[in-house]
Amino acid sequence: MRTQVGIVGAGPAGLMLSHLLHLEGVGSVVLEARSRDHVERRVRAGVLEQGSVDLLVENGVGDRLNREGAVHQGINLQFDGERHRVPMTELTGRTITIYGQQEVVKDLVAARLAAGADIRFEVSDVRLDGLAADEPVIRFRHRGRAEEVRCDFVAGCDGFHGVCRDAVPAGVLRAYERGYPFAWLGVLARAAPAIDELVYCNHPAGFALYSLRSPEISRLYLQVRPDEDLAGWPDRRIWDELHRRLETGDGWVVNEGPVLEKGVTPMRSVVVEPMQWRRLYLAGDAVHIVPPTGAKGMNLALADVRLLGQGFAAWYAHRGTDLLDDYSRTALRRVWRAQHFSWWMTSMLHRFAEDDPYQERLQLSQLRYVVSSRAYATSLAENYVGLPTV
Ligand SMILES: Cc1cc2nc3c(=O)[nH]c(=O)nc-3n(C[C@H](O)[C@H](O)[C@H](O)COP(=O)(O)OP(=O)(O)OC[C@H]3O[C@@H](n4cnc5c(N)ncnc54)[C@H](O)[C@@H]3O)c2cc1C
Repeated sequence: MRTQVGIVGAGPAGLMLSHLLHLEGVGSVVLEARSRDHVERRVRAGVLEQGSVDLLVENGVGDRLNREGAVHQGINLQFDGERHRVPMTELTGRTITIYGQQEVVKDLVAARLAAGADIRFEVSDVRLDGLAADEPVIRFRHRGRAEEVRCDFVAGCDGFHGVCRDAVPAGVLRAYERGYPFAWLGVLARAAPAIDELVYCNHPAGFALYSLRSPEISRLYLQVRPDEDLAGWPDRRIWDELHRRLETGDGWVVNEGPVLEKGVTPMRSVVVEPMQWRRLYLAGDAVHIVPPTGAKGMNLALADVRLLGQGFAAWYAHRGTDLLDDYSRTALRRVWRAQHFSWWMTSMLHRFAEDDPYQERLQLSQLRYVVSSRAYATSLAENYVGLPTV
């Protein structure tokens, strides 16, 4: 089998890239380890920056997003028992949209299949060969048979635990990392959200986030230990902890409902540089991870492939190499801005040690400064809604 761009991974990055290439008349094959059903149900991120919404809408995959996405103009910061609103749209002129990552994936899969795309779900043993000779071949197994795709380029969009990054020889890539001494316990619940904008809460017992997916579905998070065992968190304990951290005693209460899904997500920051080696281009979680506090993961993945799509389009249109040559350098500017913002939000909102009163005072001072200074609030807001490439 031969194609122009072989894409590994059918997450937001791989699917969007395949769609953008199709619009430019460039062929691709997408290889995905999991089933279609699995990728369409995988609950992860849910905050789209305005630039991500624009990308989806302008490229014809935003109809349902426009109908069902909830446009938000602010977020709340809660600390010291008080809730303060950051009016993001007033400060920046931009908005965010709440629309689950699995919905983005469903829309992209539907658009690709309607256009006759070749997406192979449930492939295994994916291996990249021929990169050093600039003749990439992706070998894999599908329905019990060994197969291969020969291509001009490979796009490694296979997430942090994928195989593409490891196809680069040792010593070429450098990883920059930061670990955090906590994780998030995330809950999806059939409970009407008790507030229509997100609440980021710094609490002595640990961070909590009140978020939502639709008028009937709440998405809630609690800071827990990095090695937290879900078995120790029956639903009752989760709700009790959410009430304790999020309610301020003014009569507002967290609405309860059946828990549809729960899981523990480790927190870390990673950037791998450069994002390219020869004809292998890496995008999304395959080369960078952010803690979800800044809501940047899916947005970065989409921003990467926007650049990559333009680069491949220029190459096929007139053998233009400038955009592809600059891909890593350009993408990393946005990646590092998002890294800093995600680290900053994480540092300001979480408990880092059981008992560190000095740091707690610093966090509270910083939070109070953010909500009382228009300059500082604007800085938070413009990062949250997404900066143009810097
Ligand atoms: C558990 C979890 C929870 C998250 N929660 C949030 C959140 O609440 N808020 C937030 O902002 N961000 C969150 N994120 C981050 C966000 O979801 C990611 O940044 C986003 O999914 C990145 O998209 P991607 O396409 O780069 O990678 P992915 O979505 O990871 O897609 C990669 C795809 O590659 C496939 N794949 C992997 N290995 C192979 C292989 N060898 N062969 C073929 N296919 C392969 C995978 O199955 C997957 O479909 C979360 C991430 C995780 C892992």
